[in-house]
Amino acid sequence: MRRWPAAVVACAGVILLAGCAGADGRRAEPDSRGRSPTPASSHARTPHRDSLPPVVDHVPTRDRVVFLTYDDGAGRDPRFAALVRERRLPVSLFLTDTVAGPGYGHFARLRAVGASIQNHTLNHPALRGLPYAGQRAEICGQQHGLRSRFGIRPHLLRPPHGTYDTTTLSAAADCGITAVVLWRASLGADGDLTYTRGAPALRPGDIVSVPSDGFTPLTLTERTARLLREIEERGLRVGRLEDHL
Ligand SMILES: [Zn+2]
Repeated sequence: MRRWPAAVVACAGVILLAGCAGADGRRAEPDSRGRSPTPASSHARTPHRDSLPPVVDHVPTRDRVVFLTYDDGAGRDPRFAALVRERRLPVSLFLTDTVAGPGYGHFARLRAVGASIQNHTLNHPALRGLPYAGQRAEICGQQHGLRSRFGIRPHLLRPPHGTYDTTTLSAAADCGITAVVLWRASLGADGDLTYTRGAPALRPGDIVSVPSDGFTPLTLTERTARLLREIEERGLRVGRLEDHL
């Protein structure tokens, strides 16, 4: 069991109790198996089998870093891989099997140049409200898929659409997930950042979601390059999320 910095655990506790991550605006309720979110103090001091992973959208840190996260498995522009390689960007890729599956070779190349690969479920359902068995199948299924494809054991989960409930946390824990990752900032189609809560400016420790291309005039690579300029203007750099979670 990983040891959690007290500040991270405290933040996770706030999120669980107050829903401050903006994922669903609900308090986390005891799950279908009767487990409640683990109090932060006991999670930090006495890890045990039933500990639930914290939900984080920001990592308290003194390092002047922000974290770039990409979902689903779209964005296979080779220029994006070139940008990651040239700038040595330790980005986190949350992959959904049904979206990323046909292009796993691309993600293997991204991983080879510094990206990390994490879990975004098999089929991208909204997990909140689904029965435990269904949530577990989605999360564990992709754990197994990513392990067989890449030989890795992901430990971070981004729930599709950012929606989850306490059953999600139970299922995630049972699949080997140690943190559920949301975001405080999201990059819009026009290349501007929007914030789920707090001050509308990038701060050290912010987790940034960069959505797939979709209906945007700018490609993923162009939006990432624009974001990198803003990060640098603020005296920040891109950190590796896995070094902090
Ligand atoms: Zn997604």
